[in-house]
Amino acid sequence: MQVQVISPGIYTYGAMVIGGLLRSAGASVTLHRRFPVEPSPIVFLSLYSTQHLLDPAIREFIARARTAGNTCYIGGPVSAAPEMVLGELVPDAVVIGEGEPVVIPLLSRGSPDGIPGTAYTRNGEIIINPPVPPQTLDRPLPLIPDDIGTQDVRGANVYIETHRGCLGACSFCQVPRFFGRTIRSREIDDILAEVRAFRDKGARRVSISGGTGSLYQYRDGKLNPGAFIALLSGMAEIMGSRNVSAPDIRVDCISDEILDAIRKYTIGWVFFGIESGSDRILNQMGKGVTSSQVADAIESCRQHHLAVAGSFIVGYPTEEPDDYEQTKTFIADHPLDDIFVSIAEPLPSTPLASLALRTPREANPLFVPHTGEYRPLNLTEAEARFFDLSLHGAMCRTRPLLLAGQAYDTFLEEGRKQGREIRLVYGILEKYYRK
Ligand code: SF4
Repeated sequence: MQVQVISPGIYTYGAMVIGGLLRSAGASVTLHRRFPVEPSPIVFLSLYSTQHLLDPAIREFIARARTAGNTCYIGGPVSAAPEMVLGELVPDAVVIGEGEPVVIPLLSRGSPDGIPGTAYTRNGEIIINPPVPPQTLDRPLPLIPDDIGTQDVRGANVYIETHRGCLGACSFCQVPRFFGRTIRSREIDDILAEVRAFRDKGARRVSISGGTGSLYQYRDGKLNPGAFIALLSGMAEIMGSRNVSAPDIRVDCISDEILDAIRKYTIGWVFFGIESGSDRILNQMGKGVTSSQVADAIESCRQHHLAVAGSFIVGYPTEEPDDYEQTKTFIADHPLDDIFVSIAEPLPSTPLASLALRTPREANPLFVPHTGEYRPLNLTEAEARFFDLSLHGAMCRTRPLLLAGQAYDTFLEEGRKQGREIRLVYGILEKYYRK
C-alpha cells in the first residue's frame, strides 16, 4: 500500500514517528514537507498549527486528493478540535490525540468506522470515537528523511521525544490536554538508538522536544536527575555536546545537578516559559510558579554559567495595563540572553480558548484598539504590547540589540501578523464552539 505522510513546512517528529509505524506495518511510506503533485491512495496529514485550518494550499490538496478518489486522514495537535478540522478541511477522518494506536487499524480496515480515536462525518452527522487510553511509548524507529540535515528548527535538525505528558496545567498549552499529566518515559536505549539513526542520516544537532526535559523518568512525585543526566550524557557521546540541546524546562524542575549536566553535555542554553511578570496573570494562566521563583531560577542558571532565554505572552484576555507594566519591569530587572514575545493564542481545547470565548471582544486586548503612544500605527492593544515588549526586550537583553529601522519594522510586522492570524483562529473557534 502506497502511503504519504505530509507535515507542511517542516518534518515534524510526530510525522516521522507515524511514518516509521506505517512502514513497520508493511506500507510503502514517503514523508513530505511540501505537497506532492500526485497524492497517493492513502494520505496522512500531520497538522501542528491551528493556522493550517485556514491554509488554502492544504484545503486545495485535500479537495484534489479526495476528488481523485484518494483517502485523506488528518492528525496532530489540530485534532484537539475535530469538529473544526472536519468542517474546515473536509478530510475522510481525523485521528484524535495520539496517533500510534489508530493509524494501523485505519490502514488495514480502510475506514474509520468504529475505530477508537477517530472522528468523521456520516450522513451529515459528526461521529467522534473517544481516543484509546495512553499507551507505552515502545515503537519502531521513525522514518527519517534523507534531507533531515537541511532542516533548522530553532537551531536543531530535530526535536526528539524522551517522554510524554507534563505536570503543568498552563491554560494556553495543549500538551497536558493532548498527552495527559502523567509522565510516560521512553527507554534510554531506544532514545539513543534513535539519536544514532538521526546522526547517521545527516542530522547535526539534536534537541530534546518541548515541555520539560528534566521530567524524563519522573516517578512517584519526584524528578529523577540521574536518568536525565544519563540521557544527556549518552546523547552527547553520540552527537558531541556542542550538538545537543535540552532547552525547554520549567523553573520548578531544576536542581544544581540538572543545571550542571545541561552545562556539561549540551550547548549550555535553557529556555524558560516565563510568560508574565505579574503574579496575578501567572496564577490565572495556571503556571504554578511565581515571578520570584522565575527570578531565582534565572539566578541559579547564571551561577551554573548557562545562557538563559525566556518567552513572554502578551494580550492575555484578562491582562490589565498594570500587569503588562510588571512584565516590563521583570525584564528590565532580570536581563535575559534572548527574549521571545507572542500574543496569547487561544488553542482549541485549552482553558485559554474557553476564557477567550467568554470574554467580550470589546474587553479582549486582541480586538481592543490601542489608544496609547503607538496610536498612529493603528494597532490593537495586544499588537501594541507585542511591539512595545519586543523593543523593550531587545534593549534589556544581556547584549542589547541596536534597534535600527529594520528591527523596528520586523517587530511591527510580526505583531500585526500574529494579531491578524490569531483573530482569524478566534473567528473559527467562535463559529464552532461559542455557546
Ligand atoms: S510547563 Fe510547558 S509543556 Fe507543561 S503545561 Fe506548561 S507550557 Fe505546557
